[in-house]
Amino acid sequence: MIYLDHNAASPLLPAARAAWLEAVDAFPGNPSSPHRLGARADTALEQARQRLASHLGCSPFDLVWTSGATESCTTVLRHVAEHRPAATVCVSAIEHPAVIDCARAAFPGRVTLIPVDHSGSVDLPWLQSHLSLQRPALVAVMAANNETGVLQPWADVQRLAATHGVPYFCDATQWCGRLPSAGLGACDFVAGSAHKFGGPRGVGFLKVPRAGKLQPLLRGGSQQDGRRAGTENVAGVLALLAALDWCEAQLASGGAARRLAARSRFETELLGAVAGLSVNAPAADRLWNTVSVLMPAVADCRQRWVVKLDKAGFAVSTGSACASGSAEPSPVLTAMGLSADAAGRALRFSAGWLTTDAEWAALRAAVVRIHAEWEPADRRLS
Ligand code: PLP
Repeated sequence: MIYLDHNAASPLLPAARAAWLEAVDAFPGNPSSPHRLGARADTALEQARQRLASHLGCSPFDLVWTSGATESCTTVLRHVAEHRPAATVCVSAIEHPAVIDCARAAFPGRVTLIPVDHSGSVDLPWLQSHLSLQRPALVAVMAANNETGVLQPWADVQRLAATHGVPYFCDATQWCGRLPSAGLGACDFVAGSAHKFGGPRGVGFLKVPRAGKLQPLLRGGSQQDGRRAGTENVAGVLALLAALDWCEAQLASGGAARRLAARSRFETELLGAVAGLSVNAPAADRLWNTVSVLMPAVADCRQRWVVKLDKAGFAVSTGSACASGSAEPSPVLTAMGLSADAAGRALRFSAGWLTTDAEWAALRAAVVRIHAEWEPADRRLS
């Protein structure tokens, strides 16, 4: 099977697997225990915190280990709701449900959506004029979109929010491990998740502001300075760091440019070979690994393409993995101005660091072949 669904979950990188296997044997103790095995596990966590802090550009004290991005996002929104219960929050229209649904639950009727332009990038002038009139309790704009891969101007949003004294939350789940994490530490809150960049499932992080006490989402023990109760997942954290270190080394040696060239070649050749197919946000800066396309109009298009490609040996998706069972059109694509019908024809191909040029070429050939084989009855609809 050729795997092109890394935005849903990226398989464990060899470096992360080795780190995890080593850590489960090397650190059997509970980091909170008073004996030497506990202290050794605690030291390993502290060192991991320092390594993550140096990637993000923040203090190790600002970092909390979590079970993944959903927990990190929920913690931020519940924390802000606890401190400013009657306030509004400003959330981009293309946030992941982990942010947008949680914001709606924590701030019922008080969520203002920040619009995006046709290329799927957040409307900065709109945000600027909004913040000059109102002071929401939080601005939330993700770093890179999970469906389209479009990069958001998070550094500009960070400066803008700071100028207006509004806390800024950046969900960097799809950015970390694909583009340099440097600078993200300037955001007040940052969420990340290991399984999106080749670490294990069920472990992630949250960067929080130095000042003020974080309202814990999980209560119980006093782990992590009372900011997140529960025994830390030491092996998971060490494997997260091994994966991130490996990805950052790829980035430092220019690995992203070669992958971007492979993705661009795939897009150009696919556009030339399949009439009626279009790429979403073709001119926007996007993650090097993500291609979001609208397939030619065919009845029940999205699921049929996924099934046909699956039978041909390719794992791809229709968009957000958590929305794949939903009949609703993608809110991300409709926010970009696409009709519900067009959004219903979206397919997402998302590669990993180890995806080869030959695998992109094989996917293109499979899409072209399936399109050519499509039954005449269906093709009349296109
Ligand atoms: N935020 C974004 C942008 C995502 O893409 C995802 C998962 O797809 C999440 C949050 C939730 O991540 P997790 O599965 O680690 O809870």
